[in-house]
Amino acid sequence: MSQPDIVIIGGGLAGLFTALKLSPLPCLVLSPRPLGEGAASAWAQGGIAAAMAEGDSPESHAADTMVAGAGLVDEAAALSLAQEAPERIFELLDYGVPFDRDLEGRLLQSREAAHSFRRIVRVGGDTAGHAVMQALIAAVRNTSSIKVLEGFIAEDLVVVDGRVGGVFARGEGGAVDKATFFPARAAVLATGGAGHLYRVTTNPPESNGIGLAIAARAGAVIADTEFVQFHPTGIDIGRDPAPLASEAIRGDGAVLINSAGERFMLHVHADAELAPRDVVARGVFAEIAAGRGAFIDAREALGRHFAEHFPTAYAACASVGIDPAVQPIPIAPAAHYHMGGVVTDAHGRTSLPGLWAAGEVASTGVHGANRLASNSLLEAVVFGARVAADLKGLDARPATTVVPLRQPRAGLPTARDREAISRLRAVMQADVGVVRDDAGLKRAIATIMDIDAGAESIMLAHMATAAFLVAAPALLRQESRGGHFRADFPRIDDAWGRRTMTTLTALETVTATELGLTRKRAAGE
Ligand SMILES: Cc1cc2nc3c(=O)[nH]c(=O)nc-3n(C[C@H](O)[C@H](O)[C@H](O)COP(=O)(O)OP(=O)(O)OC[C@H]3O[C@@H](n4cnc5c(N)ncnc54)[C@H](O)[C@@H]3O)c2cc1C
Repeated sequence: MSQPDIVIIGGGLAGLFTALKLSPLPCLVLSPRPLGEGAASAWAQGGIAAAMAEGDSPESHAADTMVAGAGLVDEAAALSLAQEAPERIFELLDYGVPFDRDLEGRLLQSREAAHSFRRIVRVGGDTAGHAVMQALIAAVRNTSSIKVLEGFIAEDLVVVDGRVGGVFARGEGGAVDKATFFPARAAVLATGGAGHLYRVTTNPPESNGIGLAIAARAGAVIADTEFVQFHPTGIDIGRDPAPLASEAIRGDGAVLINSAGERFMLHVHADAELAPRDVVARGVFAEIAAGRGAFIDAREALGRHFAEHFPTAYAACASVGIDPAVQPIPIAPAAHYHMGGVVTDAHGRTSLPGLWAAGEVASTGVHGANRLASNSLLEAVVFGARVAADLKGLDARPATTVVPLRQPRAGLPTARDREAISRLRAVMQADVGVVRDDAGLKRAIATIMDIDAGAESIMLAHMATAAFLVAAPALLRQESRGGHFRADFPRIDDAWGRRTMTTLTALETVTATELGLTRKRAAGE
């Protein structure tokens, strides 16, 4: 049977919602793992923001989004996102998502930090992502126009006559020797975030920046990739991804200490442990960088009640023999959300004809320099729906029949590449993380280039490209704003009050001329 020629890369919320909205137009969804696995969407705990409560309005939602984005949010994009939110929530209800309701059957909405109203729809408290994905997966399995190939990792976009004409993807989770070519009239990039470029992250391993890299290598314009949101208290017990010590633990009185037992946040902010997320993340980072380590100490505040109040965090600690009732818990800032990505317009079109993008991999202009909580699931469904609407108007041009030749190369990392990935993630954590400066960023870029040049597998080469796409704009942006903090330029600078719009080639040229660092692409590119 022939394959549909609209290829959606990624089976998270953005990919599946696009596929459902495309129906009855046929499409193919490529997913590295069985649907529901390997997607951050299924891990979302909070919920989805939508201005539906009495007194609330899309204008207020957009205004909060703009404040969070620290001057770089595209106002029209934020407003239209907020305006479409209620409609998308009703659609999710139609797909069977059991959002929490009150006794009279009205949707329950809760409040989250930096939202002016009770605006978050949830499921069963903290299981929104899982519930949304379960409902959509069931709908996808019942929609005959959607073909799903599980176990496929996309590794290249093929551009024919200036237009994306197909996707190379490798089966068996990337383990097979040869990639398969999928001709495409249109490709939709829905590969999620890039947290796994960092040693400590809350994201699943598949959030490794490959989607961003393949689009950038194909020539797509990217934006705002220097902006990465960190969760201040990932539990640093060598588990990958890192379990979270939720903010509620600090809310219940636990304090942050270093290995000498000092409460370091007292010297950083008047609100100490309850300061804004990015401030706490920087405080934790500074202690670790100074070799003093950072810990959550819940001994006095929670003691024996810890296990009962925070069973997930307790189980994570217990698995490595830490008892939070009597021991401090080691923590590190964890890469949580990537604000930047592949630039799209309001329809989800990228700068590359034939390529659309939706979800965390995209840069639609709604997040600016920092994401407002619960706006990311919303963005995935709003832009998924828009991409589908746009593709319905696509002319019936045939997909290319040309199957390009490629250099044979390993898909999955070799033993040597696995070591290099650890090095890459460590340097990103240390030098392109919560606190950055000129020397560290230059050091990181040199390391990334070195790793890239020696990459034996496609996966490592793509991860190195994605890391470069975060580090190089971070070096160029000489100010601090949102998810980008420079110790050597600690203040916001109006001269930098614009989104970063660039390409891989432009960044390579700047780093070559200004730093004398040349990215040597490995054979096969
Ligand atoms: C712990 C946690 C809690 C969160 N809580 C919230 C919350 O409460 N509210 C909120 O709005 N946001 C939350 N977020 C953020 C939100 O979950 C994500 O931004 C959102 O789910 C992204 O959706 P997506 O479809 O773009 O990506 P994902 O859901 O990550 O899906 C990406 C898909 O692409 C696949 N993929 C990756 N690379 C390739 C490739 N090369 N080829 C083929 N497929 C590929 C992945 O396997 C996956 O199937 C949270 C994130 C985390 C990690």
